[in-house]
Amino acid sequence: MPKEDLLRLLRDPNLLLPEKQTLISDIAAQAAAMDMPCYLVGGFVRDLLLGERTNDLDIVVEGDAIKFGNALISKFGGTLTLHRKFHTAIWHLPETWNLVPDTLDLITVRKETYAESGALPTVTLASIEDDLRRRDFTINAMAIRIDGGHFGELLDPLGGRADLESGLIRVLHPGSFVDDPTRIFRAIRYEIRYSFSLHPSTLKLINSESLFVIQKLSGERIRHELDLIFEEEKSAQMILRAGELDLFKSIHLKLPLFNPDYFDFLEMDVILDIPASRTVIGYMLWLMDSSEDEILSIGRRLEFTSDLTYSAWAVSQLKKSLPFLKDSKPSVWTFALERLPLLSIYMVYLVTRENALLDFLSVWRHVKAHTTGDDLKARGLEPGPRFGEILTQLRAAWLDGDVKDKEQEIEYLNALL
Ligand code: ATP
Repeated sequence: MPKEDLLRLLRDPNLLLPEKQTLISDIAAQAAAMDMPCYLVGGFVRDLLLGERTNDLDIVVEGDAIKFGNALISKFGGTLTLHRKFHTAIWHLPETWNLVPDTLDLITVRKETYAESGALPTVTLASIEDDLRRRDFTINAMAIRIDGGHFGELLDPLGGRADLESGLIRVLHPGSFVDDPTRIFRAIRYEIRYSFSLHPSTLKLINSESLFVIQKLSGERIRHELDLIFEEEKSAQMILRAGELDLFKSIHLKLPLFNPDYFDFLEMDVILDIPASRTVIGYMLWLMDSSEDEILSIGRRLEFTSDLTYSAWAVSQLKKSLPFLKDSKPSVWTFALERLPLLSIYMVYLVTRENALLDFLSVWRHVKAHTTGDDLKARGLEPGPRFGEILTQLRAAWLDGDVKDKEQEIEYLNALL
């Protein structure tokens, strides 16, 4: 790619905010002063070449990133967090710069070797080409050199740009998925996000051998990849694709296909000020029709938090109990729903359109009797379990319309006492 074209992209304020452009120039000047080859790498380069706005900068140097980081903070301010083992540093940018994100990874080029399939890699120092070769796909394996006179040189030893233009996701070597099967999930994410295709030779590598290695991945690593999928705009298509490629059995034998009837709900906004996250919604919908045992076992495999397991369990239990609750009085609904997570109730409402669930979320859960424990004490009652029973009965009377104002509540209370 001609240098001028790349320089034009790097100076386009629609792709890269002027503040970020200044940051890159400052880093470039410092690298030149230290005679240290310095590169922008990975997703930043991919998105810039695609003409997409980019936010995250990843900086790689052929030299000691920690030394480089120290020079940057003494010149520009901010602080450093060091990871000596990996020769990397995180630069916490000066607060006054107000940049988002407010940190920047500074990485020493490195080469990774895998002691065992699915294990975390061993790292040794190397050249930028080695660094690019350890990456996942050609489209993520490009770098732009920025130090001094080299500013704006594209390094593309693996044909990333051609693949970007042809819309292809291609691994760098045949053992890539076996070395690290999280790349299978990443491949799907990029394929669907950019409406690309997996290169036929890469598609072939998603086979029994690489799927088998998924079984060796920790629950946390798999869940992280699934979380990233649920956070994407086209998450439904990604989950569909993961099912087509038969990924789920390798995660857990009982992990079902995602029900296509629920796809639309993945992208739906949650109303009523209920705190929600796309990932929690994703797992709730996925496991909605699973059994209690299955949910507990899948939750253990994917290292769900206890809250997440409980929320997914609540969804499936509630959906199963709807036929028994149907036509019940509001008080019965309310007392059955009260301890369940609001988001679980809302998801079951979306799927079943059972109006009582929406009534509970919007009205019934807020209904309370006026009478308090203190009022009962003032009437000479001894505090004890009977207190709770009376207050519950009063609340039920309000919910079921047997009491409509304060006077009626007092009459009702008198009758109870
Ligand atoms: P996204 O837009 O999805 O965040 P990204 O490229 O910024 O894309 P990161 O997960 O931040 O993705 O990773 C940064 C870079 O690190 C990638 O571009 C890729 O080159 C490399 N990388 C990330 N994960 C892997 C992996 N499992 N194997 C090899 N290289 C990886």
